[in-house]
Amino acid sequence: MDECFFHPGRPAVIRCKQCGKPLCSQCRYITEYGIFCGEDCAKKFEIFYKRVEELEKRRKPEKKGIKVIRGFIKFIIYLLILYFIFRFLKGFLK
Ligand SMILES: [Zn+2]
Ligand SMILES: [Zn+2]
Repeated sequence: MDECFFHPGRPAVIRCKQCGKPLCSQCRYITEYGIFCGEDCAKKFEIFYKRVEELEKRRKPEKKGIKVIRGFIKFIIYLLILYFIFRFLKGFLK
């Protein structure tokens, strides 16, 4: 791996999740969102992460719609199976 962005000559152990700068074990800025080169990158990533979360929350109603359609298709298949069983039994009784 590359050498630390802040300490030339020191081997980097990880890259900043936001800007990709190589970092040594001393320069790691660890947050709940990951490892960054500093507070600036951590904040930038936090804003980005929260935006993604918001977008995913907005997408959820669409997923629910798909689930309703899938449930409806399952219901139709179930009715068809019942219909064929009914027809089969009718023919069997004759
Ligand atoms: Zn960074
Ligand atoms: Zn360093």
